[in-house]
Amino acid sequence: MRPGAIGALLIAAVAVVSAQGQRQVSLLVTNGIVVTMDGGGRVINPGSVAIDGADIVGVDTAGAIRQQFRGRDTIDAAGQVVMPGLVNTHTHAPMVLYRGLADDLALMDWLNNYIFPAEAKTVSPEFVRAGTRLAALEMIESGTTTFADMYYFEEEIARETKAAGLRGVLGETVIQFPVADARTPADALARAETFIKAFKGDPLITPAVAPHAIYTNDSATLKAARELSTRYNVPTIIHMAETQAEATTAKERGSPSVVSYLDSLGFLGPGVVAAHAVWVNDADMTILKARGVGVSHNPESNMKLASGIAPVKAYLSAGVAIGLGTDGAASNNDLDMFEAMRDASFLSKVATSDPTAVSAKTALQMATMGGARVLGMDRQIGSLEPGKHADVIVVGMSAARQTPMYDPISHLVYVTRGDDVQTTIVNGKVLMRNRKVTTLDAAAVLKDARMWAGKVRAAVAR
Ligand SMILES: [Zn+2]
Repeated sequence: MRPGAIGALLIAAVAVVSAQGQRQVSLLVTNGIVVTMDGGGRVINPGSVAIDGADIVGVDTAGAIRQQFRGRDTIDAAGQVVMPGLVNTHTHAPMVLYRGLADDLALMDWLNNYIFPAEAKTVSPEFVRAGTRLAALEMIESGTTTFADMYYFEEEIARETKAAGLRGVLGETVIQFPVADARTPADALARAETFIKAFKGDPLITPAVAPHAIYTNDSATLKAARELSTRYNVPTIIHMAETQAEATTAKERGSPSVVSYLDSLGFLGPGVVAAHAVWVNDADMTILKARGVGVSHNPESNMKLASGIAPVKAYLSAGVAIGLGTDGAASNNDLDMFEAMRDASFLSKVATSDPTAVSAKTALQMATMGGARVLGMDRQIGSLEPGKHADVIVVGMSAARQTPMYDPISHLVYVTRGDDVQTTIVNGKVLMRNRKVTTLDAAAVLKDARMWAGKVRAAVAR
């Protein structure tokens, strides 16, 4: 036998062995520019991701995945970025129905004279369900796979979130004054407890307790809310040090700052997700780090309401867990996490006069692994690694504004928009494929939202 023939035989033998050894999996995402966001920051091009059921089972070069796996379904991601789904660490999903209702106002004027009155007249289980469907549609379309929420009738939000296929850390609001789903804080706490019992252990929903803020809750309510979440080992979500005025409340209660006040109550600890954390001093920063509190940075909301600029660079150097959020759509006015990344980077640069303050890589990290860490889910989501849940997005990179491309990470943060997301996968399930959302009837969701807008308009007419 000629040497060439022996070589051919050997190649054939290897092919047979690998064909037999191939593992059949539910889904392959192939031939993309795989931005893993793993510890080594690997970018694999061309790379593929193998998904079986709810989990990622392989992340490697396209060739290596082809050798090891056979997919019952395959998504070709040639020329596109394959990356972990984005983690929105702070929103109020149903508030998409108040999008554009009242703009260009300061937080307290906006809340007390527009948002709280509108909510008092319009929030109901049906309203919350319609709003959550609209928010879920927008999030799926713009590549968000996990969101942290704080609102009313949170069990309804949980049902719609599950139906849409998204992952949610959902906090039932606790607030001192009567609201649509609770007459008293005690009612709200009871509702939160029922909600926790109903959803604890759900594969997509993590129930949480969400005392609104220190200026909307007294000390006893804040303590009781924290105690409830500690008892059930679920997250606590709170607005913290969002505006400078909030410090007045802390001072009235005998503490120099919002953070020191919450710490004096024994409120701060692992599992606390603090939204905004704009007005903090060095001592506060040390407390937040020591207590293991996660910070949700919401650059667009902070800019729009002129709340201030969070010291993101300082949080990063202190090693505080920090992620990005949009806040509710009424103060943003959308749920696009690509914009949140870009604005987080730009705002930090201008605030510190340092163009290196928040790099594209850091912004992307905050929107993925950083957010996962804030929500206590960094072992389950936030990066593309075998063993993690399959929360994966495929992002188009062929628009004029994305051409040419030297560095995919630069493009993801500085030129990409939510609309560029082509495919969204959560827990191994494809929620959107080539821009077609599979879990929601988009036309019906939009029609329903417009109907609710008519009711909101009528309710706030003076
Ligand atoms: Zn908020």
